Amino acid sequence: MRVYFEADADPGLIRTRKIAILGYGNQGRPQALNLRDSGVEELRIALRPGSAGAERARADGFDVMTPDAAAGWADVVVMLFPDEEQARVYREELAPNLRPGAALAFAHGLAIRFALIEPRPDLDVFLVAPKGPGTALREEYLKDGGLISLFAVHKDSTGSARALALSYAAALGSGRVGTLETSFAEECEADLFNEQAVLWGAIPELIHAGFDTLVEAGFSPEVAYLECLTEVKLIADLIHARGIADMREAISNTAEFGALKGGDRIITADTRTEMRRILREVRNGSFVKDLIADAEAGYPLLKASRAVAAAHPIEAARARLRDLTKQP
Ligand code: NDP
Ligand code: MG
Repeated sequence: MRVYFEADADPGLIRTRKIAILGYGNQGRPQALNLRDSGVEELRIALRPGSAGAERARADGFDVMTPDAAAGWADVVVMLFPDEEQARVYREELAPNLRPGAALAFAHGLAIRFALIEPRPDLDVFLVAPKGPGTALREEYLKDGGLISLFAVHKDSTGSARALALSYAAALGSGRVGTLETSFAEECEADLFNEQAVLWGAIPELIHAGFDTLVEAGFSPEVAYLECLTEVKLIADLIHARGIADMREAISNTAEFGALKGGDRIITADTRTEMRRILREVRNGSFVKDLIADAEAGYPLLKASRAVAAAHPIEAARARLRDLTKQP
């Protein structure tokens, strides 16, 4: 796999373009701030009228416009608002107004991979997906670092989509650490799979289950919290710094022997079978179908799951510990 760095990108290219960032949330704000600090001058934020983000964007010194006006103004329109909203906004506000040969940029491949958006044939379509949350994208950039990004070109109508994608990624800071080429399908499917099978699905569930087991057996919730949640951050840092095999040197023989005893009883052959089923549901589109159906119904499933998470006793333990200690 080839990795691209700053030297492989033309930093001037993105600075010659008018960029509209649609959305000023998790990704929109950090990306806009990084682009501006990298010398992009013609940069505006697009939000629907009455949007809560508009005030923040203006306070950060950006002009704010509506998505349809932004589409008529920009050379590059960056889709940094919720995936499940993108098709409607593209159809109603962008497609009729986008300038000929403009570029449509994404941070996630979902809308293209599942053909929710079928871009006008004259457009360039590319993906730059930073591998991490927006907060980290900004923090690393400010430390002269960056997050690794994946990039992909779906449609190169003008002949400059690829160079533009690399220039954009470099302006986000990814040129400092590495930009890897992928496809919309690979980025999207791997990302959706990981969200369910490892990151947001499995890890919080594992923490809840461990916490519940200890508390049910009469352990204090504070101790259960420190064991099952606080230490997750420490091991994540260790794994990130040293890899899974090497981080074993930093843990006690007791902990290492415990890993040997516990690991494959929790992640069993059944768990791996279920992971393959999750991957199938991602690839055959049934997950995205469910996501869109929930969005169209006003997110009943998403709202219910937020309520369940908020009511879990681990949150009360967290609040008590925060009061008792100086932990953030
Ligand atoms: P957010 O949920 O943070 O986006 C919210 C922003 O989008 C708000 O400013 C909101 O404004 C605006 N918005 C909502 N609806 C519309 C609309 N119809 N038109 C214009 N603006 C709208 O999104 P994320 O930043 O989490 O995700 C954006 C994209 O980045 C997605 O494709 C996601 O998959 C991808 N991504 C996200 C990562 C992350 O860190 N979260 C990591 C990598 C990729 P309002 O106040 O009006 O609601
Ligand atoms: Mg994702």
